[in-house]
Parts: sequence; structure tokens; C-alpha cells
Amino acid sequence: MTDITAAGAAVTSSPLIGDAHLYISGEWRHPSDGGTRALVNPATGHTLTVVDEASPDDARAAVGAARATFDAGEWSATPVSERAALLRRIADLLVRDKAELSRIETLDTGKTLVESEIDIDDVESVFRYYASLVEVDADRVVDVGNPAVISRVVHEPIGVCVLIAPWNYPLLQISWKIAPALAAGCTMVAKPSEVTPLSTIAFVRLCEEAGVPPGVLNLVQGSGARLSGALTDNPDVDFISFTGGLATGTTISETAAKHVTKVAVELGGKNPHIVFADADWESSVDQVLTGVFLHSGQVCSSGTRLIVEESIADSLVDELVRRANQIRMGDGLDPASTTGPLVSQAQLNKMADYVASGIAEGAVLRCGGGRPDRDDLHPGGYFFAPTIFDRCNSSMRIVAEETFGPILTVERFTTEAQALALGNDTTYGLAAGVRTSDAARGERMVRGLQHGTVWLNDFGYYTPAAEWGGYGKSGNGRELGPTGLAEYQETKHIWHNTAPSASRWFTETEDER
Ligand code: NDP
Repeated sequence: MTDITAAGAAVTSSPLIGDAHLYISGEWRHPSDGGTRALVNPATGHTLTVVDEASPDDARAAVGAARATFDAGEWSATPVSERAALLRRIADLLVRDKAELSRIETLDTGKTLVESEIDIDDVESVFRYYASLVEVDADRVVDVGNPAVISRVVHEPIGVCVLIAPWNYPLLQISWKIAPALAAGCTMVAKPSEVTPLSTIAFVRLCEEAGVPPGVLNLVQGSGARLSGALTDNPDVDFISFTGGLATGTTISETAAKHVTKVAVELGGKNPHIVFADADWESSVDQVLTGVFLHSGQVCSSGTRLIVEESIADSLVDELVRRANQIRMGDGLDPASTTGPLVSQAQLNKMADYVASGIAEGAVLRCGGGRPDRDDLHPGGYFFAPTIFDRCNSSMRIVAEETFGPILTVERFTTEAQALALGNDTTYGLAAGVRTSDAARGERMVRGLQHGTVWLNDFGYYTPAAEWGGYGKSGNGRELGPTGLAEYQETKHIWHNTAPSASRWFTETEDER
């Protein structure tokens, strides 16, 4: 049993983490080279626990196990009703262990306990959604104009999947992959981020308990760069589903192309939140704040670019600054905290660099910009105050690049056309928000914005039943919804002639013509 130090004080232990942390062919194993990694509690900077870290040989063994299990054919031939029942059992176990999973997620990522609890609820709903969807994922009969021919289009599992997830929503992101992959009948190797693997380790234990057969779900954690060859440059892999940064997604796509392996990448975002002067004031202030500062901005769909109509810009920015200064940042386990620290020292350094760059490029720093001036925060925690830069433009790095932290930039417009142009002025295209009380204008805007999700008078919500993914450099796949299942399926057309007859295209003798 692994000890997990909570907030640098009380030592507790979690049976959900266990002693060995690689799961290959239905066995919990230690790494072949004895590798380990110390995990850090972002709220304190203290070591949380030490986990096993896979070697490239372990990763190859995991892919090999998934390949052998898929090729044996038993799992992919399991009736859909049984696979759906398995997904529902996993959902039930998530409910049973929600408190412990949430605690683990908070200790590992720094996010508040409430956010972790919401994540676990969402993971549960994703499993229930795919259990229901796969049961009605009917084959399609095609009329070919010949009553003797039964022509149908069927879905089959794509095969061995490598599932790579980032650190900001560790369990949520990997569940968007594992749930449809299991539903489709695939086998898989899951690789969480080396920074935050704990909830995924715990979750795989639940999957084992629920009855996922050996070899179907394999788990390796460790440095993505080190395991990359085994996981992405491997002809035994049929599909790679990756969520993470643009640079990593590009590298993986290039590597996998050698084997013509299908790749779906869900990448970063630089998401505009556009506020017209006629928008509801109260909900605009509230949602601009949560849209950018929730989870300290470490959200791919974070509304990090406020694009506001000039006539209300000064008053809106003043109010946002006032409210941002009141945000109760702290240890995620403290119920008084409404947002937690950044995940790592590396993220902290990155924010400091962006603040320096914003100032150097002429943006006006209105609040934040460094560590909050508070004595009650743990000195070793990676805390960075909610930061607002006014008077920004899209040539600035803080506006063009994904900062992935609590930095809001403000740009202003006077016409609808300008607002739309600014909203689309990004190489990314993951998500956008529009706020206006003019329904016709709202509809024009949501159709014009080139982003995978667009919220009108709301921000940040999603549902398992609707697709999630990006335009442009935000990625090329879709998760959730029916498309999120289709990513894990091959489509086969079966043409069955029940009354075969010769077509006589090629005749035996010329006389027959
Ligand atoms: P990274 O790209 O650094 O890492 C993502 C995952 O890829 C991690 O598991 C990482 O492992 C692994 N990895 C790193 N290098 C390689 C490699 N060469 N080959 C294979 N795997 C590799 O992203 P972050 O973890 O920093 O996550 C933040 C990014 O994720 C942001 O850009 C964010 O926008 C994006 N994101 C996108 C979402 C979406 O829905 N579009 C949702 C959530 C986040 P390790 O950690 O061990 O290095």
C-alpha cells in the first residue's frame, strides 16, 4: 500500500493505488528496470508518493499484450450487451469510490475537491453514456437494387489503441478514451501523464474489479518522451488517441504516419469569450471569471481571451479585477478554496515568463502577475494569482499562445464584424463563447466562429452526448458523442449475394458475345 501525504501533514494510505503500478496482461507489475518517480503535491511542493515508472520494454510488453488479446478475438466477439453491462459496473464502482478518487485527484493535480468530485461524476456519466450508445449502435442495411443481395454496413473494433492523456484532467480525459474503446470492443494501453498518474492507476483497479478481461486494458505510466517509440512507433498499434499539447501531438502524428496508424489528436486552445454591450451583466462577469480562472486556467477550453465591446470595456474590466482579487486560492483539500495552485514549478515558471512578455509587449497589467500576497498559502505551493492584462492585441505572445494558466487578456471591438474577426484570429479553434441579448446576432456569431464548441450566453459546459474537439491546430478528432465511439471503430461493408449468378463479363468464347 502506498502512502499519500495529504497537504504535507497527515499521512494516509490508499488501497486504490496499491504497491505495483503497471498493469499488463491482467497483472500488476513493477517496471523491468526498477524505475520510479516521486509525485509532488502542488499545494505544498512536498513529495506525495512514489510510483513505478515504465521502461520502453514495459510499454512494448503492454502493446504486445493488447495485440495478443485483440487477435485472440474473444473480447471483440463479446456480445454488446455484456460490454455495456461492464461499462455500467465500472460506473457503479466510480460512484462507490467517488470520495477516495476525488481526494487522490486533488492531491495529485491541486484542483479543489469540489472540482475533482465533479470530474468523477462526469467520468461516471461518460461510461453510462457509452454503455447506452453502443447498445443502439445499429448496423445499416443498404438497398443495392437487387433483392438477392443483403448489403449492410457494420462496425467493428479498430483494434489496439494507445490512449495518451494530459495532467490537467487526468481521469476525465483518459475516460473519454477508455469508455468508447471498451464499448467498441478494442484492447488498449493507457498512458496518463507522468505528472498526475494516480487517479488512472486507481481507476484501472476499479476496471479490474468490474471484470475487464486480462489484456484488454493495460496501463503504463512514465515519461511520454521515453515511452514514445514503444507506444507510437509501433506497427502493432492500430489507433492512437492523444490529448495534450500541439508540439507533442505533431510529433506523434509524424511518427505514426510511418505505419499508417490512425491518429486522433486533441490539442490546445486559445479561446475567445466575446461580450457585447447588451449582454446580461451579472452572468457575464461571473462566467468570464470562472471561464478563465477555474482550475487556475489549466483548462484546454479556458476563456483566456476576453473580447469586449468598447462601450462597456472599462467597467467590465474594473469589475473583473475587483472580483479576481477576491478569488480564494488555496490547497484544494481546504473547503474554503475556490481554486487551487498550478500543477508544477514548470507551469509556475511559464506564467512568470508570460507576464514578463506581456509587460514587455505593452499590455497593461491590472492584477496578479505573480504569487498571491498571502501569508496563509503554503510557501512550497505553486500558487499564481489570477492575472488580468488590459489593452492587448493579437500580435502579443500572451494573446497568441496558449498560456495554460490564470491569465486573462482583454481586447476591445466596436463592430460585430471586428468581434468575429478577433474571435477567429487564432491558429487554434477549440472553443469560444459569445454573450449578447440579441438572438439574431448571437446566431450569426456562433455560425461564424471557427471553433469546435461555441457557447452562446454560457461558458464551459459539455455533455457526453455531444462531440468535443477542435478546428485548426486544436486537433483533428472528436471525443464524446457518437463520433467519439466511431473513432474506435472500423466500418465494414458486407455484400452478401444469396442467389449468385455469373455476370459473364468475360466470356468463354468470342461466339458467346
Ligand atoms: P503534453 O503534450 O506535454 O503531454 C500530454 C501527454 O503526452 C502526457 O501523457 C505526456 O507524458 C505525453 N507525451 C509527452 N511527450 C510525448 C511523446 N513524445 N510521445 C508520446 N507521448 C508523449 O501536454 P500536457 O500534459 O502539458 O497537457 C497540456 C496540454 O493538453 C495543453 O496544450 C492543453 O490544451 C491540452 N489539452 C487539450 C484538451 C482537449 O480536449 N483538446 C483537453 C486537455 C488538455 P508525460 O506527461 O509523461 O510527459
